[in-house]
Amino acid sequence: MNGRVFRSTGSWYEIVDEHGQRHQGRLRGKLKLKGVKVTNPVAVGDRVVFEPESEAQTAEATVVITDVLPRDNYIIRKSPHKTAHGHILAANLDQAVLIATLTLPRTSLGFIDRFLVSAEAFRIPGVLVFNKQDLLDDESRAYITELEDLYEALGYRCLKTSAVTGEGLEALRALLTGKTSLISGHSGVGKSSLVNALAPDLNLRTQAVSTYANKGVHTTTFAEMFTLADDTYLIDTPGIKELGMIDTEPEEISHYFPEMRDRLGDCRFHNCTHQHEPGCAVVAAVEAGEIALTRYYNYLGMISEEDNRR
Ligand code: GDP
Ligand code: ZN
Repeated sequence: MNGRVFRSTGSWYEIVDEHGQRHQGRLRGKLKLKGVKVTNPVAVGDRVVFEPESEAQTAEATVVITDVLPRDNYIIRKSPHKTAHGHILAANLDQAVLIATLTLPRTSLGFIDRFLVSAEAFRIPGVLVFNKQDLLDDESRAYITELEDLYEALGYRCLKTSAVTGEGLEALRALLTGKTSLISGHSGVGKSSLVNALAPDLNLRTQAVSTYANKGVHTTTFAEMFTLADDTYLIDTPGIKELGMIDTEPEEISHYFPEMRDRLGDCRFHNCTHQHEPGCAVVAAVEAGEIALTRYYNYLGMISEEDNRR
């Protein structure tokens, strides 16, 4: 049988099959993934093959995962267990949606750009949803429109929403339909309010707590997948602040800025870091106003962070 992993504690997996039936499963002991060194060979979002457990080893296990189908993409982080291995947070994502707000709380452009760079690094399309539109005056709304223009021009879908007035909710529903979307954002931006407005029966937080409570496992570093509608899935990553990147060299970061990526071949030096080097096509584009200053400054911030980490 085939199914998808909706939840995992690291040793237990909740799998939903093609008929929407839920199964509790475990891994066959010898199941190992080729190539990637990870602490969890199976992650939320994975498409798996499973079979009924031949002899019940424990009262609860009903199926055994025998194989993991190739992943379209995945988000990997440094393992929380401090091993050299990574930890796969989620797999097979069609898009990574960041819910951002200008106020209560304020999502900084630095945070937005880091989110988009991580999404690029994991090869997942990034989407920005500017929520709490109802709290904004005309000037702030105009600023959001400027941001939309900036990010749409870079290839990122943008939406304006309000969970209070319902603005943009149908556009958000359309954006999510038929896809698996990671939903991210600072605490308080309105993630649960938006999801509840779209699907009142699906309460991100309470659903998570009720299924885990009886096993006494805490959920913080594990993603969870929810069915919003037919073929429409949301992945929530409670407690995860940033998507992060793993093993990224500072020189690689400009590849994750679409407006820089296209110009890298024009820099005089192959290993240009786009700071003080002569003949730098990126700096020339910044000076010509073709690359937004905020984006360039956030790029500089990111490469110095990576430098410091080494
Ligand atoms: P989460 O932490 O991202 O899940 O945020 P919540 O959905 O719990 O929302 C945090 C607070 O913001 C709550 O008091 C919500 O009522 C409020 N909120 C959420 N969306 C909006 C919105 O679009 N406009 C306004 N004014 N408040 C909102
Ligand atoms: Zn350069």
